[in-house]
Amino acid sequence: MDALLRAQEAAAPEVGRGRLAEYIPSLGAVDPRQFGMVIASCDGQVHVLGDADVRFSVQSISKVFTLALVVAAEGEDIWDRVSREPSGNPFNSFLQLDQEEGRPRNPFINAGALVVTDRLHSLTGNAYGALRDLMRRESRNADVDSDPAVARSELEVGHRTTALAHLLASYGNLECPVDQVINQYVAQCALSMTCRELALAGLFLARDGVLSDATRLLSARQTKRINAVMLTCGTYDSAGEFAYRVGLPAKSGVGGGILAVIPDRGVACVWSPALGPSGSSAAGLAALDAFTTYSDWTVF
Ligand code: GLN
Repeated sequence: MDALLRAQEAAAPEVGRGRLAEYIPSLGAVDPRQFGMVIASCDGQVHVLGDADVRFSVQSISKVFTLALVVAAEGEDIWDRVSREPSGNPFNSFLQLDQEEGRPRNPFINAGALVVTDRLHSLTGNAYGALRDLMRRESRNADVDSDPAVARSELEVGHRTTALAHLLASYGNLECPVDQVINQYVAQCALSMTCRELALAGLFLARDGVLSDATRLLSARQTKRINAVMLTCGTYDSAGEFAYRVGLPAKSGVGGGILAVIPDRGVACVWSPALGPSGSSAAGLAALDAFTTYSDWTVF
């Protein structure tokens, strides 16, 4: 695919530029010179580039899947507890809780993701287990799992996440005990997957909610809505710049991965660990910018 080669060319000067997510010590130890990209189409084709089969920490990309599982289980009640407005603030901001009700501004900032994980844990008794099962099934890899060293590393420095969880609890916006919610949250963020596995796992977002076995996880309307929230909130305080350059619903993580959805066409997953200022992969952004410029895989 020609556009994939253009993406590789555009990404090359950015690979290794930027900062690793050093605030989570084990993510700060990753080799920043890696780059992988996968395009998976709804009709089953998979195109790969570079380090497409190296596992990395999916981090906040997991938040799309926990949200999908909650919506799949009980419809859209979660929006009573979390808003869906873009935030001009960083992903770990304290400023994004509605002062009256303690309602996080969207489900992808950390505060919102804690509420979603809390709800999934209430619904299933094992939020991380539900997420891992979905990822294993859709990626067709039964050994997909959380990296305990990454989870431990995040827990050891997780004062801000702990504080956010307590703040949410003080508003009555957590149902489960704070320590359980935090443990589930760091386990989900520490999921270790390759670009190929993540792309396959995310394909239902391009297929109106239909999973790999042709059963439905989400309705077409629910899928459209989750994609819309990804477009406006999936890359935090750079969602405007990301939409301007790439123009796709996407979710980034501080492990350097970005999952982007091209409805009815397929998904793109790119990974390179060095991050730009807003916590999304710098090379990943350049690659997706070129990919949507030189292919017709775009919503615009
Ligand atoms: N686990 C990370 C955190 O809570 C996730 C952040 C991210 O990927 N944007 O800080």
